[in-house]
Parts: sequence; structure tokens; C-alpha cells
Amino acid sequence: MRLLLLAPPGAGKGTQARRISEHFGIPHISTGELFRQHVAEGDELGKSVQAYVEGGDLVPDDVVLAIVRQAVEEAMNSSSGYLLDGFPRNLHQAREGAHLAKQLGASADAVLHLEVGEDELLRRLLGRTEGRVDDNEATIRHRLEVYRTQTVPLLDYYRGRGLLININGEQPVDDVTSEAIKALDA
Ligand code: AMP
Repeated sequence: MRLLLLAPPGAGKGTQARRISEHFGIPHISTGELFRQHVAEGDELGKSVQAYVEGGDLVPDDVVLAIVRQAVEEAMNSSSGYLLDGFPRNLHQAREGAHLAKQLGASADAVLHLEVGEDELLRRLLGRTEGRVDDNEATIRHRLEVYRTQTVPLLDYYRGRGLLININGEQPVDDVTSEAIKALDA
């Protein structure tokens, strides 16, 4: 199973990604997690992406695509599947990602979209205590804006390709997971 997971900040993307990838026994690739690890290690890549991650801006596409290529290659070698959490975030990444996946024989089978209304997102984000450096109010509002302008156009892109599966992300966490698994099994 090869999956992409699209969701706005605060929709429970990381939690659902962990559960769904575990259920299907496929590697969970979170681009945000990978970037945060590099930032924490203070290596070259980390230094080059730190300001973007902390400000809630998108990391440049060439950097993202390089890290995704490596992670997908590793996933395909170890399990022939993957769940990509947080990629793609804009149309250019989607097109380049599809091209790359084709080359690797790793095209996505489905794109899961967790739907959560903006009021609910703000309520959750402003109340959460994960202590991420991008979790202050100004950055949260900026990340929502980036999602709306850059990432939302991907919904039409994937709908047009017959890949999009919408899941109601406002339900209790367990119900979101089971709705997603049920839709994927079908
Ligand atoms: P996330 O954990 O998915 O919310 O990602 C956290 C941050 O990592 C984002 O706000 C971006 O700065 C960066 N990031 C993660 N994935 C991508 C991507 N596909 N393209 C550009 N930036 C990304």
C-alpha cells in the first residue's frame, strides 16, 4: 500500500499517520519529523531548513524532493509501500513527486484527506501543548494560511486523478482511524 496523507495543521495528521501505517505494516515517512530531527541535530540540512520550519513556511521544493526521494527509495527496498505524511504541500511538489514515484515504480494508490473546519483547527492548535517551536499563535495562523493557499489546490488535483479519499477528521480519534482503514480496504 502506497499512501499520501493530506491534512491541515491541527487535524491529527501525525497521529493518524502512525496508526494507519502500523495497521498496514508500511513505513511512515513524515517530512516534518525528518526536518525537525535535522534541526535538532544542527547538521547542514538542519541549518538550511531551520528558519522555514520555525516560521511555518514551506521548505524549498528541491530540498524536500531530495529528502522524499531518499526516504521513498528506502521504504520501497524494505517493504514496497509507504505512507507519506506531509508531502506534497504544493502543486509543484505533487507533479515532481508523481514523476519521481513513477521512476521508482512507487506511484501512490490513494490520497487520504483529513477534513477539519478552520474553527476547530484553531481551537485545537491554540490549546495544544506539544511545545513545538512553530506552535505560537502568529505562526499557527500563518501555517493555516500556507495550507489554504499552497496545499488546498492539491485536493482538486488528486480528485481529478481519482485518488482522493475524504475522511471526516472532526470525529473522535479512533473513529477517524477506522473510517480511514475501512475506506482503504474498500
Ligand atoms: P508538519 O510536521 O508536517 O506540520 O511540518 C512541519 C514543517 O516542516 C512545515 O511547517 C514546513 O516548514 C516543513 N515541511 C514539512 N513537509 C514539507 C513539505 N512537503 N514541503 C515544504 N515544507 C515542509
